Amino acid sequence: MLELSTPIKFVKRVGERVAVELAKRGVETVEDLLYHLPFRYEDRLNPVPMSALQAGTMASVIGEVRGTVLLQTRNMPLFEMTVGQGLSTVKCMWFRGTYLRDKFHVGQMVALYGKLEPSRSSAGKFKMIQPQFEVLPAAGTADAEFSMLEVGRIVPVYESLGGTTAWGAKLGSKWLRQVIWALFEELEGVNSLHPTLRGETAKDGAPGLHGQGQTDVVETLPRAMLKRLKMPGRLEALKAVHFPEAGTPMTELMSAASPGHRRLIFEELFYLELGLELKRRRMREREGTAFVTNVKVREAIKQVLPFHPTAAQKRVLGEIADDMRKPQPMRRLLQGDVGSGKTIVAMQAALVAIENGYQVALMAPTEILATQHYISARKLLGDVLSPRTGKPYRVTLLTGSLDEATKREARGRIFRGEADLAIGTHALIEDKVDFDNLGLVIVDEQHRFGVQQRFKLMKKPGALDPDVLVMTATPIPRTLALTLYGDLDASVIDELPPGRTPIVTRRTTEERAQDVWDFVRKQVTQGRQAYIVYPVIEGAKDDQPELDFPHDVEEDLDAAAGKATASPSVALRLAQGDTAVKGGKKRKAVAGSKAKGKTTKTEKLFEPKKALRAATDMFEELRSGALAGLRLGLLHGRLSADDKEVAMRRFQRGDIDVLIATTVIEVGVDVPNASVMVIEHAERFGLAQMHQLRGRVGRGAAKSFCILMTGGRVSEQAEARLDAMVRTQNGFELAELDLQQRGPGEFFGTRQAGLPEFRVASLIRDRAVLELAKVEAARFAESPDPVVSVEEKDAVWTRLKLQWQRKYGLVEA
Ligand code: ADP
Ligand code: MG
Repeated sequence: MLELSTPIKFVKRVGERVAVELAKRGVETVEDLLYHLPFRYEDRLNPVPMSALQAGTMASVIGEVRGTVLLQTRNMPLFEMTVGQGLSTVKCMWFRGTYLRDKFHVGQMVALYGKLEPSRSSAGKFKMIQPQFEVLPAAGTADAEFSMLEVGRIVPVYESLGGTTAWGAKLGSKWLRQVIWALFEELEGVNSLHPTLRGETAKDGAPGLHGQGQTDVVETLPRAMLKRLKMPGRLEALKAVHFPEAGTPMTELMSAASPGHRRLIFEELFYLELGLELKRRRMREREGTAFVTNVKVREAIKQVLPFHPTAAQKRVLGEIADDMRKPQPMRRLLQGDVGSGKTIVAMQAALVAIENGYQVALMAPTEILATQHYISARKLLGDVLSPRTGKPYRVTLLTGSLDEATKREARGRIFRGEADLAIGTHALIEDKVDFDNLGLVIVDEQHRFGVQQRFKLMKKPGALDPDVLVMTATPIPRTLALTLYGDLDASVIDELPPGRTPIVTRRTTEERAQDVWDFVRKQVTQGRQAYIVYPVIEGAKDDQPELDFPHDVEEDLDAAAGKATASPSVALRLAQGDTAVKGGKKRKAVAGSKAKGKTTKTEKLFEPKKALRAATDMFEELRSGALAGLRLGLLHGRLSADDKEVAMRRFQRGDIDVLIATTVIEVGVDVPNASVMVIEHAERFGLAQMHQLRGRVGRGAAKSFCILMTGGRVSEQAEARLDAMVRTQNGFELAELDLQQRGPGEFFGTRQAGLPEFRVASLIRDRAVLELAKVEAARFAESPDPVVSVEEKDAVWTRLKLQWQRKYGLVEA
């Protein structure tokens, strides 16, 4: 009997040999194959008549082969075929199409899919270049048995699974249709013998059975839930997605929004959210500290506040304080755009814990940021006494670059409870430190750490779980927040401190660099400071760890072009020498040749790769050139920790006018007097990065500027990023675009971020279903529909375990 877990080799028309091929694509069971869903559909029931075709659109066309010809052009053989419908015809062309000569015959019916372009020779006619095609089965042929899968219906189109059958047929759409169709026939046969195996919907009724202790091996969601949500059963949904019934709107199918799609997406997201919900619940059962927030504590907070908190800061602190008062450990995510003032909220939370006699750990992703937090904590807490002890607060810094003795001493103080607030890089605090009495852990810029690394803090055996506050400045699109941080409660600071003027963002190109430097100089003369950021530290090496370039599609070509040059760093030096001597004429020349437009592929290949301008080189160049006389500083990831700190402190004190840096300054750095952010090679930066970088300015009252300078070919995607940067300053809006461009996997720029992979769902497309799944997961965990049977509940838990182990192994269930 065929079951979902049956190995694929037992499926009709598959067998051992093909099973090996399929295994390479991760298809090992019947279920795997059923989840290889069509990526598009062709409406071969109501095909668009050729007379109604429109140029420039993607279209699927059915017609009769009227004639074919193989032309020998100068460059390559060209196969041309005319397909007709009544009086209308479309011409199709395939380059190097010799192999098609014997494939098509006059009189055959074919289905074509491709972009329609106006024919150059005859007005009103169309051509398709290299369309996808299928020869439709004719009566009496071997294929006729399956003809109902190919014509007269909405036909699924699959991504090929690679490989071939024993007789050489591709494991493409046609093959998949046949195999999957046969699978359904068999599964439905089985199910008709065992009515409980069918995923009935509200529509086809026959409820009752699920309450009688029989389990359904196909269905994974409780019947009552499906009924309430008006969703089809699982098998029914799969069938409808593979072989849609006539009348299913094409737009719904193409956007994965048909009822069948929705059900499959929901199922996947439901199990994700259910797992997260359980984690939350388990956490709430743990024992934590119930802090008190009495008058004295509030007094302590008040006396350190350097300004009136915004309404949003107040609200968020209220949410945090509520959590802290509860005896369960807090697990809260604090989101707030760059510059929204998260630090002060964190410090207030810290004071609550400290005034209750507990220690606080503040962990930052980089030494620079840790040091910066240390400096501002000292500034904030330096002059006041704790109302509880009558003594100053004890703040300890612990970073990797401190010498061993200092580190040992710091650890000792933390261990003996002589440090109220320990600030350090997360690695350091996490791995080696024992606290005496840890009450609160604050994790800054969490998105840089990766999901698994949370909360691995040492505590005394038997001690209560510390509260945890996770902060992130990367606005996380809601879908990602719900999946990645679904086990945390969330607070959002959605308001900037008063007095901020919007940052003026402008685009310019490298050719206008002199204007930019003049502008920087003018701002410095007015007492302001500036950042100039480069994508690389030195030379043109792209392999630096702090880099996180977006992988724009067009860059492949660049990469190929790069290989064609000698050494990129030589190219760089040449380019620079050139600028020095000829004052940028060469760059103009390059721009000119581009303006002509029609560079062919080969030309591009041999056009030397334009080297990236780099921080160290430009530091030298600007110091002795355009910015001579200003006080320049250099900051990048390869400096020793001491040098980094010195540079940072000097910039903060105003001893440096212009800080030339890489993206190390991306997060957290807070120098309100800085009013200009110049980003060179802005085309190379991701949106999140640019947004973070821009967030370094606009922190004071002075009008601030962000100048995005491009110095290379700007891909279409880069163009969209730059546009968005100029258009909006809303971090969430930018994050949504970033998510669309890069996909969830790369959104955080770190592979370790550990996002689950989905079979059907898409975090970009399926936000609404995700919200529903979250609500339903909470409801199921709290109290499932009363008619859900014990068996069904058990089935859900079993499935939950399976899915979390198999797919989200990263997050322990
Ligand atoms: P982020 O959320 O990016 O960590 P910070 O906490 O660094 O932001 O705050 C950004 C700047 O805004 C800091 O200079 C901080 O002192 C200032 N700031 C924060 N809250 C307020 C407020 N309520 N009123 C005025 N300035 C504020
Ligand atoms: Mg911050």
